[in-house]
Amino acid sequence: MTDGIHPARTRFAPSPTGFLHIGSLRTVLFNWLWAHHTGGQFILRIEDTDRKRFVPGAEEQLIESMQLIGLMYDEGPHIGGPYAPYHQSQRLDIYHQHAAELEAKGVVYRSYATAEEIEQINAQRVANKQEKLLSFRNLPGVDDAARAAAGAPYTLRFNLRREGQTVLNDLIRGQIVFDNSNLIPDPVLLKSDGYPTYALAAIVDDHIMQISHVLRADEWLPSSPVHIQLYEAFGWEQPIWVHVPQVLGPDGKKLSKRHGDTSVTEYLKDGFLPEAIVNYLALIGWSYDDKTEIMTTAELIERFDLNRIKPSGGVFDREKLLHFNGVYLRGLAIDELARRVAPYLEQAAIVSSPPSTAEMQRLVEVLPLVQERLKLLSEAPETLDFFFQRPALADPKLLVPKKTDPAQAVVILQRAHAALASLDQWDLATLEERLRALTEELGLKTGQVFMAIRVAISGRTVSPGLFETLVAVGQEETLVRLDNAATALAQSLAVS
Ligand code: GLU
Repeated sequence: MTDGIHPARTRFAPSPTGFLHIGSLRTVLFNWLWAHHTGGQFILRIEDTDRKRFVPGAEEQLIESMQLIGLMYDEGPHIGGPYAPYHQSQRLDIYHQHAAELEAKGVVYRSYATAEEIEQINAQRVANKQEKLLSFRNLPGVDDAARAAAGAPYTLRFNLRREGQTVLNDLIRGQIVFDNSNLIPDPVLLKSDGYPTYALAAIVDDHIMQISHVLRADEWLPSSPVHIQLYEAFGWEQPIWVHVPQVLGPDGKKLSKRHGDTSVTEYLKDGFLPEAIVNYLALIGWSYDDKTEIMTTAELIERFDLNRIKPSGGVFDREKLLHFNGVYLRGLAIDELARRVAPYLEQAAIVSSPPSTAEMQRLVEVLPLVQERLKLLSEAPETLDFFFQRPALADPKLLVPKKTDPAQAVVILQRAHAALASLDQWDLATLEERLRALTEELGLKTGQVFMAIRVAISGRTVSPGLFETLVAVGQEETLVRLDNAATALAQSLAVS
């Protein structure tokens, strides 16, 4: 889909410091959708220049999450691309060249003060009720020239413009004017270990990689004047800035663990479907027409429009995601549902690993009984186990329906056994007719009789429709379970 729009180049530029969380996945998704909508490219760039914050394995996890959710990048680690490498730690020469360019332009300076010296001076200034340092040249007690001559380590700092204003044109928020007199201290561009900081590396890479839209969380807004001044210093054209509103929890506060902002892999493990996550996340802070909710990924690609991103924060509500997941689960063809449910049954040792053909066939038979009610794939083992295995004997108390007593429950089970043993047909209509008749013979309510049978067969009080369940379990096995339950209950009576 191109709409006559230029193919966009977007990027996700995480620092490998942790898992991919729901909030960042929304940023990934918007970038991915925009690239796909415009027929452009989505780039993954790993911003791993802060060696202190580096977490081994984080990058692998992140890429795996993107893969599992189905939001893969077109250029990036492992797959390469025209601007490889896509790890900033492998691009140090590029940053040094650009730092040299800025030095030649005279917009940066080498500061020889150590972090401890700066801290001390600042502490002194605060004590004297003075502003903290903004500039870091020839600080008291620091002779930059002498240290330079001695080959001392230094940081390269950007000499920020402090008069006038810096203007950010943001696609979502419009023009934002920053007063330069309020700017932060001259930022470090190259650290003394030779690694660039985020500001230098990101700007250089966004430019070189021809990123057309920098779409990122709006928590980056305060640092954007520095980025803009860097673009100006290099004399480069700025990308289109798209600062997307934060993802909030239902209480309107920034999304946190408490609201379910855990890793994406956790969501997948819980049995959320990637397509439901994608659909729901697309609606956090964006809408197609303020009412359509369920959209396939192809529809999202076609309809996604940056101009419809809302400037205010969007809310992530796990309950709403559960609702979406239910809708998507109900929409799956049974074979597909079986394929997705199987790993959960394998893990719970309800089927073999890998499942046999017979087990898969069984799964396809019984899934229609639970598909309507399933909200998470991970609910499958506890919902389906008794179709595959005889359940452990139920707690005798559960076998006793309301307003009956254990002795009566034994009678119900024995009579049900006799009634069902006599059937020479085992289908819904026959079962229904026979069990309703039995209820009348016993002078009880269907709810009472059916509950005792349900618990005997499934081991629990909630199961799919009773007759469907019995058909699926089969006559022989149904009789065994009724008999076992009746015997166990009678024994427990004898004991007590
Ligand atoms: N490396 C930054 C981060 O960790 C990227 C910010 C941006 O997208 O410009 O989130």
